[in-house]
Amino acid sequence: MAGEPQADCLFCKIVDGEVPATVVRETDHTVAFRDINPQAPTHVLVVPRAHWRNAGELAAGDPVVAAALLADVAAVAEAEGLVDSGYRTVFNTGSGAGQTVFHVHAHVLGGRGLNWPPG
Ligand code: 5GP
Repeated sequence: MAGEPQADCLFCKIVDGEVPATVVRETDHTVAFRDINPQAPTHVLVVPRAHWRNAGELAAGDPVVAAALLADVAAVAEAEGLVDSGYRTVFNTGSGAGQTVFHVHAHVLGGRGLNWPPG
């Protein structure tokens, strides 16, 4: 069921502390941790504690947590010193767009120049 923990979900396990991660921020609704395979000098993933498959399902199912997630992206960017240089926030949705973990997460990327359009 949407919003419920999924036994086989990697990011549910990170939220629960079953799988270790370098956590940089925690709130009642979200956890932010460093990506294991960073694509930029700063690459943080911000996830809701509750399990939702993607950004659209989160926004439809729990808009309060969706808003909290976006606020936490901004808080992470501020804490990581990315606001002046700029940063990118990415939600991959679906395997065709590169989503590999089906627990919604915002990528927060910064610390280098970022090209547009992305690949
Ligand atoms: P997606 O491809 O679904 O948009 O992003 C999933 C991200 O999770 C990838 O950037 C990948 O490097 C990261 N990732 C996969 N496994 C782990 C892990 O065990 N720990 C952490 N911290 N990040 C992970």
